[in-house]
Amino acid sequence: MISIDLHSHSTASDGLLSPTELIKLAAGSGVKVLALTDHDDVSGLPEAALAALTYGVQLVNGVEISASWHGHTLHIVGLHIDPLNSTLSLGLEKIRAGRKIRARRIADSLAEAGIVGAFEGARRYAGNPHILNRSHFARYLVEAGYAKNVKAVFEHFLTGGKPGYVRHEWVSLAEAVGWICASGGVAVIAHPGRYILMDSEMHELLAEFCQLGGRGIEVVTSSHKPEQFAVFAKLANQFGLLASKGSDFHGPGESRFGMGNLPELPSGVIPIWHDWSELVA
Ligand code: AMP
Ligand code: MN
Ligand code: MN
Ligand code: MN
Repeated sequence: MISIDLHSHSTASDGLLSPTELIKLAAGSGVKVLALTDHDDVSGLPEAALAALTYGVQLVNGVEISASWHGHTLHIVGLHIDPLNSTLSLGLEKIRAGRKIRARRIADSLAEAGIVGAFEGARRYAGNPHILNRSHFARYLVEAGYAKNVKAVFEHFLTGGKPGYVRHEWVSLAEAVGWICASGGVAVIAHPGRYILMDSEMHELLAEFCQLGGRGIEVVTSSHKPEQFAVFAKLANQFGLLASKGSDFHGPGESRFGMGNLPELPSGVIPIWHDWSELVA
C-alpha cells in the first residue's frame, strides 16, 4: 500500500519546517502523496510544488479552514483546492484579518495574567506574519518558562477559561465548505474526535456538512486514539462520507504519528483518494 498523508503544516502556518523541508522529510520517510494543509493560508503551496518535483512526492494542494459551528470551533480541510481561486483567497484573507485582532486579544489576556510581551514573543515564532496562532503563543510561553513544553501550555493557558483564552467567531461552516467547493476542492472534516459534541450533535454536524457539499471525514489522524478509528469509520459509512487520513504533522516529535508512520484506514470505508488520477496512474 502506498504511503499517503493528507494533513500537514509548514512554516506558512504553525509548522516547524519550511515547505521544502517538509517535502524532503516526506520523501525520506517514504510518503508518496502529501497534502500541505496550512491553517487559513495557501502561501506555502508554490514552494511545496517545486520541492515535490525535486524530491518525487505527489503534492495535493490543501488548506485547513477554521470555522465556527454552534459555538464550537471546527477545522475543515480542503483537498485539491485551486490556491488561485478568488473566492477561496478572499475568504482566507477575511479569516487572517480576524486572526490579527484575536492575536492582540490573546496577548492582552496574557498581559492581564502578568505575562507581558507575548504578542512580540509569539511573532518571533511565526514564519508567516499573517498567521499568528496559538501554537506560536505556546512556543513563546515555553521559552519564557511558563510551561515545560507546548502540550503543557495548553493545559494551563490558551484554552477555555484559562489566561490567553479568547472566544472567537471564525467563518461559518457553510462558508468554509462553500469556498473549498468553489475552488474545485473536496471538503473534509478534520479530526472529528477532537470536538466536544454529544452523539446527537455529531450526527447533526455530519448531516449539515453533507448537505453543504462536504465529502470526507478524517478517520485516521494523530488526534484520534486507535480505538476511535472504528467509531469514525462507522460514521463515515453511515453518512456516505469518504474516509481520509493525515498525520497533522507540525514538526518532528509533535504528533502521535510521525511522518510516514500513519496506520492504514480500517477496512470497509471508501478512501477519499479512491478516484484520484495520480493514484490510479
Ligand atoms: P488556533 O488556530 O490559533 O486556535 O491554534 C490552533 C493550533 O494550536 C492547532 O492547530 C494546534 O497546532 C495547536 N494546539 C491546539 N491545542 C493543542 C494541544 N492541546 N496541544 C498541542 N497543540 C495544540
Ligand atoms: Mn496547528
Ligand atoms: Mn486542526
Ligand atoms: Mn492541522
